[in-house]
Amino acid sequence: MRITDPHANASTPPRAVPDARGRALSSGGLVESMSAAPVISAPAAEPIFRARGLTKTYHMGEVDVHALRDVSLDLHRGEFVVILGPSGSGKSTLLNILGGLDVPTSGSVTFLDHDLSRNDPHELTRFRREHVGFVFQFYNLIPSLTARENVALVTDIAEHPMPAEEALALVGLAERLDSFPSQLSGGEQQRVAIARAVAKRPDVLLCDEPTGALDVETGILVLEAIEHVNRGLGATTVVITHNAAIAGLADRVLRMRSGTIAAEQRNARRLDPREMSW
Ligand code: ADP
Repeated sequence: MRITDPHANASTPPRAVPDARGRALSSGGLVESMSAAPVISAPAAEPIFRARGLTKTYHMGEVDVHALRDVSLDLHRGEFVVILGPSGSGKSTLLNILGGLDVPTSGSVTFLDHDLSRNDPHELTRFRREHVGFVFQFYNLIPSLTARENVALVTDIAEHPMPAEEALALVGLAERLDSFPSQLSGGEQQRVAIARAVAKRPDVLLCDEPTGALDVETGILVLEAIEHVNRGLGATTVVITHNAAIAGLADRVLRMRSGTIAAEQRNARRLDPREMSW
């Protein structure tokens, strides 16, 4: 997992929803890949992300590590997608490319009119600043600032932010505005990190193992906060995890194996985090 600081960025409010074009429905349930690189797509409207034939290869001395192999994927506005897979299957690599933190070795990926496959740092920075909120396994809060001040770091420079108090209320921390990170539990700190990610009203919320460092009960509170943000703000939400129990929360579950999307599952009903057995 590579961690950068995507939070010191400005933002704009969500874009208008693109027109629906009545895309062909794929079948429900578990869909095993039949051929190389199927396009994994939800049925609703025009996708906001389009990835085609993504590969990512790391050269480690004599060895090539193929982190992604021919991944094609569409993501739609407001979707909640969980990407499941064992460690090393390529989840973080895919999330980082979708978030403009990294670029593919080959293939194309776009977010609306942003070309995320070109290695153009200004374009990628603009994309992250305007559209993306990140949540990582470790919260990266500034210890000397209160919860409100940690969130205000983003709201002070964003174009159309929500007040820090509103963002913290969205994740159930309205009563803890003036607490310092050391006075908060791990789950509460992660909820501050979620508030910081969403305060700029991102179109996309990308979460890399957000409950990885938390116990079950605390993890449920964090997932409730993410779910609340997904429904409340309509942010397209991608959560990557190796915890299969989280799959039930999603509209769609993508299972990664050895750098490919090996299977897709569409949930008829999204579970409430409280209904999960872990
Ligand atoms: P996951 O998130 O599913 O654990 P990753 O996307 O982090 O998987 O990694 C996929 C593969 O790519 C792994 O074999 C990992 O060791 C390798 N990898 C990831 N990042 C790098 C990097 N910066 N340099 C070299 N290899 C990397």
